[in-house]
Amino acid sequence: MSTAAYISRRIVFPTEVRPAAVLVDTVTGLITRIAEPDSYGVVDAVHDLGNHALLPGLIDPHVHINEPGRTEWEGFATATRAAAAGGITTVVDMPLNCLPPTTTVAGLEAKRAAAAGKCMIDWRTWGGAENGNQSHLAALANAGVPGFKCFLVYPGCDGLGLLDEANLRAAMPILAKLGLPLLVHAELPGPLEAAAATLTHVDFRKYGSYLASRPDEAELAAIRLLIDLGREFRAPIHIVHLATAHGLPLIKTAKAEGLPITVETCPHYLYFAAENIPDGATQYKCAPPIRSRKNNKLLLQAVADGTIDLIASDHSPCPPEMKGLDSGDFAKAWGGIASLSLGVSILHTTLGAPCLASETWDESARLLRLAHLMAQNPAKLAGIAKRKGRIAEGFDADLTIFSPEESFVVTPDDLHFRHPISSYLGERLMGRVKQTVLRGKLIFDGSKFPSAPIGREVRS
Ligand SMILES: [Zn+2]
Repeated sequence: MSTAAYISRRIVFPTEVRPAAVLVDTVTGLITRIAEPDSYGVVDAVHDLGNHALLPGLIDPHVHINEPGRTEWEGFATATRAAAAGGITTVVDMPLNCLPPTTTVAGLEAKRAAAAGKCMIDWRTWGGAENGNQSHLAALANAGVPGFKCFLVYPGCDGLGLLDEANLRAAMPILAKLGLPLLVHAELPGPLEAAAATLTHVDFRKYGSYLASRPDEAELAAIRLLIDLGREFRAPIHIVHLATAHGLPLIKTAKAEGLPITVETCPHYLYFAAENIPDGATQYKCAPPIRSRKNNKLLLQAVADGTIDLIASDHSPCPPEMKGLDSGDFAKAWGGIASLSLGVSILHTTLGAPCLASETWDESARLLRLAHLMAQNPAKLAGIAKRKGRIAEGFDADLTIFSPEESFVVTPDDLHFRHPISSYLGERLMGRVKQTVLRGKLIFDGSKFPSAPIGREVRS
């Protein structure tokens, strides 16, 4: 056994931030003991982090890696490198955009073969639920997926198909029996079609046209349907990338009723606002869209008070020519915002917004909330909460060393994913990842990646 001690004045445990020493067995990659910072005994290596905060390794449960099949969009090597630079130690890949989609065990095995030997961090993947693949769900669960993703509208490209209400109803009892969550892209086609009918002659270079094409009601109708189905079938439902704050009262009521419903939002719905998006700036296109400043302030308050369970990037890049930056046409551009390496800095910046200011919302409170939103709660959703998501004895020594006081302006060198395009370029963020440790090994040192790709699939 070889032991290393990580000492910091600000270690973020599940219920408190305090000085401590985290002792790690660098052979097994596990946390062996939490000790006082001045009495941890004899060790082989000491990492004194001073005033840098030590967070649990972050977990991003919503990433589009797009490999195999569309590796030119992203890929395991580049996505996991970018994630490591963002303090993320586990990603959960989405079952779509890759080819084949992860809707069968054969699709899952193809993904495993594609990922082998390339990953800087640990990973797992959601299965896909689409019309007609109900008979594959139990087999995929047995083969190791922690839950299923579905779209109630057309997903945007070949591969995973949509799941209509009849097929959703057929899948629900199976999921309830498996006890695995259904992650839902919550927009219904009806309100989108109604909006499209009123927008036949508008200029889609204008952001307002795009925003009008994806109204709040499309999300709200889907959320109402999901709450009704959750009540009927008692299957765990997770709403991905909530963009409308009008959904919050519905979700609060459903949670109070005891329904197994959780919800995520993404950094871009908190950081940006429709009022500031220039016409033609298709790097901001995502679905559902970034809504008004007032809306996004309400989302941020729900993040701060815990109504929103977790933050996921929904990192969804594409080759530059598909992003439509030349034409500025929001109707034709690929919808997806790339931010995998920046999430913790964005969230830390937004949690410092004046609308949240109070005497109880100090730096420790921000760090605690951040660890819940980006480590502990994502670990629960992804079925890995017994080994990841918190700094505790017996857990994987996945650690993120973070400087909350350091600000920086985002440049292409900070991104690390395949195509250095992001709506955050030029933004000043507060809080920076200094180092990332995966199972006791340094995988990111602030600018470089000193380790071989040691990431592996996590199986609960
Ligand atoms: Zn997505």
